[in-house]
Amino acid sequence: MKSLSIRRAHARRVVRELTKLYPDAHCALDYQNSLQLLIATILSAQCTDVRVNMVTPALFARYPDAAAFAQANQADLERMIQSTGFFRTKAKNIIACCKLIVEKHGGKVPATMEELNPLPGVGRKTANVILGNAFDVPGITVDTHVGRLSRRLGLTVEEDPAKVERDLMELIPRKEWTMFSHRMIFHGRQVCHARKSNCEHCTLIKICPCIGVEDAPARITRPKKVNAANKPETMFEE
Ligand code: SF4
Repeated sequence: MKSLSIRRAHARRVVRELTKLYPDAHCALDYQNSLQLLIATILSAQCTDVRVNMVTPALFARYPDAAAFAQANQADLERMIQSTGFFRTKAKNIIACCKLIVEKHGGKVPATMEELNPLPGVGRKTANVILGNAFDVPGITVDTHVGRLSRRLGLTVEEDPAKVERDLMELIPRKEWTMFSHRMIFHGRQVCHARKSNCEHCTLIKICPCIGVEDAPARITRPKKVNAANKPETMFEE
């Protein structure tokens, strides 16, 4: 494995390229406050953000705060969120989560990982979305796009999202964590798809080792640097 300093230098290049590509990347969910973001993020599991954004205006109008969600009738809530999939589990989690927010946090969404993570339906991924976007606390959100791209870009070899997050935290400067996540998600949605990676149309090809990509084009611009002994060495060869 490459040294930490080499892996960090590679990660910085990835950050730079993604920043150039997606300067205005942002959370695609519609929300006005931390509670709405929390509910929308729970609903976004196994569902598109577009679909969630179709459901939430009526939902937030009917349930304006955590107390209202905590007292919701489960069948009513299920009906309103049915189109987002897994609606029974999501409705159950939303009600239980909001009950805890009311009982333990005075009706306000807490702003730390330690307090968010134990809430029903809130894993580290959701907690990092809330921290990064509602509270300006840097967080790396490892969804399916961030995990896949991190492996293809050679930033991790891990499959488990918690381990991917740990590797990225080591490589990516803390102040970049939230925007890095948005930019990786944008790139995963627009270019580096799960089934077809589109390497031939990707500007990251000059720095990406395309790990695990079977149809990656032959690399003719593999980045090279000269080491102290004046021997060329590539960034990605093991
Ligand atoms: S070069 Fe290919 S594998 Fe690498 S980020 Fe671009 S599309 Fe994905």
